Amino acid sequence: MTSPAIAQHLIGGELFGDAAKERRNPARPGDVAVLAPVGGTTETDAAIAAAVDAQRAWATTPAPARGAVLLKAAQLLTERKTQIAEDLVREEGKTRAEAEGEVGRAIGVFQFFGSLGWSASGSVYPSGMPSTTVTTRREPLGVVGLITPWNFPIAIPAWKTAPALISGNAVVLKPAEITPMSATHLGMALRDAGLPAGIFNVVHGRGSVVGDALARDPRVAALSFTGSTAVGLSLQQTLHARRARAQLEMGGKNGVLVLDDADAAKAAQVVAAGAFSLTGQACTATSRVYVTPGVRQAFLDELTTLAGTYVPGDGLDAGTKMGPVVSDAQLERDVSAVQDAVDGGARLAYGDASADGLRFAPVVATDVAHSDPIATDEIFGPVVAVLDVDDYESGLAAINDSPYGLTAGICTDSLTHSTDFAARVQAGVVKINRPTSGLDLHVPFGGVKDSSSNTFREQGHTATEFYTWEKTVYTG
Ligand code: NAD
Repeated sequence: MTSPAIAQHLIGGELFGDAAKERRNPARPGDVAVLAPVGGTTETDAAIAAAVDAQRAWATTPAPARGAVLLKAAQLLTERKTQIAEDLVREEGKTRAEAEGEVGRAIGVFQFFGSLGWSASGSVYPSGMPSTTVTTRREPLGVVGLITPWNFPIAIPAWKTAPALISGNAVVLKPAEITPMSATHLGMALRDAGLPAGIFNVVHGRGSVVGDALARDPRVAALSFTGSTAVGLSLQQTLHARRARAQLEMGGKNGVLVLDDADAAKAAQVVAAGAFSLTGQACTATSRVYVTPGVRQAFLDELTTLAGTYVPGDGLDAGTKMGPVVSDAQLERDVSAVQDAVDGGARLAYGDASADGLRFAPVVATDVAHSDPIATDEIFGPVVAVLDVDDYESGLAAINDSPYGLTAGICTDSLTHSTDFAARVQAGVVKINRPTSGLDLHVPFGGVKDSSSNTFREQGHTATEFYTWEKTVYTG
């Protein structure tokens, strides 16, 4: 049996912490995957103080030099990729291919933002005043807090940290309790890349303690959060009350519309990949599908056949296509959502409400009404509801009738419908004949409505807008 990975706090450049809490591999209950410390307000205070002390010097470090540290971190993550991915599989449960893809994404993010150290930032304007030039500069905010979920435990911290650091900020990261090792690897790579002590800090612990302290501390100028809508909206109120900046990436109930003119087999591949990859535990996962009558049966036949190929297994085993559910609490959510749907009259075209340990096979539910919880509530498991709609307009209306607006998709051969859908669907990301999950790392990402609550976009060039403010300079 492999020994546990050791997660630690990183505060002021020091890695430390006792092995207070164990996290077991969800695919192998006997495998203690990680031992991690549990920090509290003392560690959070120390991390913020270290960040405040270090930030000014980092902000005045030339941007190309800041970028060089990020590029070096990308190189170290590349060298350590196999080990980081294995630890990630053990702590979260996703498959090795998914974990390697995720670490690869973190590497790409550091490469992207590291290279921005050489890019122009700010603008030059003509002035209406004689012999005067107007320029703008982007200034860092100071210390930013990051609170992240378990489902992409290295990619999400990476895509918040890299734009924060290249912009001259210092960071305090509070990772999810159940995946502490990935954040520790990120901290070690940044430290070993030569990032000055105190610029990137990691504090493990409970959200209601460490996360809450970060949100309330007046030294933290801004907080970027990814997680559930309930926690995000409550953090937004705390931050608003002290006029601190908030970025929120929250839940989704992502819908796909399949029209009569779609290729049924291709549409089923799009939906299965969106619904069952990552065990359905992606904020961008497909969880409701609206189908017009002419394609319904062919689509369902193809989808249930594909569902059968997502056999839940151990992510460390070669050939496993779908890992286990992350935790007992998440399994309970999946099982009760399916059981409640069946009790409410739904039919299961594939799967059922049973599980083997944390291994839970895909579920395809039909005969679902628009207002049934399985069609309205985020489940975060490999469960997809298939609903009948008469035509394009009623399908579009059904997708838009949701408090969420993260991603949405359409499967069609019609340029008219796909163009109209892209314009009228209420979602931050639109996929035409592509799975709702799966995103490029260099383009903007975010939702509308309760998925992002009108906050800033992440990823791509515009990600630095959240971490900076614009100063206007008149020179005569
Ligand atoms: P969660 O909200 O329970 O936890 C997210 C983070 O918030 C964790 O680090 C947690 O410790 C912390 N937290 C919890 N309570 C807190 C509090 N009172 N104050 C401060 N911090 C607190 O979410 P989760 O279960 O880890 O992740 C699943 C959720 O994340 C899903 O709803 C999913 O849709 C969402 N998510 C969204 C995106 C996106 O980009 N939109 C990406 C991934 C996950």
